[in-house]
Amino acid sequence: MKTATIMQQLAAKHPGEAEYLEAVQEVLESVEDVYNQHPEFEKARIIERMVEPDRIFTFRITWVNDQGEVCTNLGYRVQFNSAIGPYKGGLRFHKAVTPSMLKFLGFEQTFKNALTTLPMGGAKGGSDFDPVGKSDAEIMRFCQAFMQELWQCIGPDQDIPAGDVGVGGREIGYLYGMYKKLARQYNTGVLTGKGSTWGGSILRPEATGYGALYFTEHLLAQHHKDLQGKRIALSGFGNVAWGAAKKATELGAKVIAISGPDGVCEIPDGITQEMIDYMLVMRSSNRNRVEDMATRFPEKAKFTAGQKAWTVPCDIALPCAFQNELALEDAQQLHSNGCWCCCEVSNMGCQPDAIRYFQQNGILFAPGKAVNAGGVATSGLEMTQNAEHISWDAEEVDRRLHSIMQSIHEQCVRFGKQQDGHIDYVKGANIAGFMKVAQAMLEQGTI
Ligand code: GLU
Repeated sequence: MKTATIMQQLAAKHPGEAEYLEAVQEVLESVEDVYNQHPEFEKARIIERMVEPDRIFTFRITWVNDQGEVCTNLGYRVQFNSAIGPYKGGLRFHKAVTPSMLKFLGFEQTFKNALTTLPMGGAKGGSDFDPVGKSDAEIMRFCQAFMQELWQCIGPDQDIPAGDVGVGGREIGYLYGMYKKLARQYNTGVLTGKGSTWGGSILRPEATGYGALYFTEHLLAQHHKDLQGKRIALSGFGNVAWGAAKKATELGAKVIAISGPDGVCEIPDGITQEMIDYMLVMRSSNRNRVEDMATRFPEKAKFTAGQKAWTVPCDIALPCAFQNELALEDAQQLHSNGCWCCCEVSNMGCQPDAIRYFQQNGILFAPGKAVNAGGVATSGLEMTQNAEHISWDAEEVDRRLHSIMQSIHEQCVRFGKQQDGHIDYVKGANIAGFMKVAQAMLEQGTI
């Protein structure tokens, strides 16, 4: 196969689906050499089959806001690939959600889930519903209306949604309540990220951020470095950024900047526990403003409007917000300010030329599908606990999360080691995930 030829065909077939094409291109470039050493993959047309989702459900969601007005949004579930297990992946509620965005996320999820060592296929879903400024009652009504359509597509052994941007524990609660009512099924394993009193795994809320820091620890150790005293700049203040800030601080690093769509808060002495707790308040306020941190802690945090976290001098950058949030100019600025490591925690958080810049300038870089896989991995652990009707304690979940992140790092090293000895984590993650899914598809025949 030739990446350029396949990309040309895909671009013609899916015009305007920029994020989806970007995600596919990155994976194809990484796996091209390995793929071409396997004529059996080519004969089975594995690539052509793997880049298209198994199916996409699209539906209309109509609900009533607090003013009594009738609102309509679009909802989707993209069931991407089930070669290694039932469909698994989050739901994103964000005004910019399109089929292209969910296809890129479902595609990425397929390889990420393969890296976790757990038997999960890839999926993604969501809606162009904008949670910013919505009341709790509106969020509930929207979630209920969304589930009126989604429930027929999902099931604990079929497709298991979870959270993503705009969908956290509160939304999963409302979604599950409606699912039960419609399906008359009481198996909590149909969704993950649930409350801990009704089937949710301990540590699931923290898991993406914790896993990202465990991965970062391994990456640093591989390069004879550690987290102690290192300055970290991160973007976002949702669930993922919160978990990352918490674990980074616990492991001895200093989070010196967090950013939001409105600007950046510099925190020269490092984020405190009280400030980390406040990130959760900011998230659930649905205001989407990082300035609130500086208003609440004026002596500790300084807000600058319109700037990203990447303008603040740091050792390690952790993009934790949204795809393509770190551009080439940001990578250059980080480098000139002394940053030497970037672990992508958001899905496809760095633009392709920013990644190339990092790699060409000796900055350690690891991609989201490896770094953030601890979230979905802990969802997998939640499914296991639900299926066994038991719950593990925090030590047990943390131990398993640790060992999964270690295994993901090992897979990146094994498949990403280049002839000159350096490790290309992008290649490593893509090849490791790809080989597993490709092999499973081959063994299951032409379907
Ligand atoms: N949305 C998360 C991700 O991007 C978690 C998905 C899940 O837990 O199913 O991996």
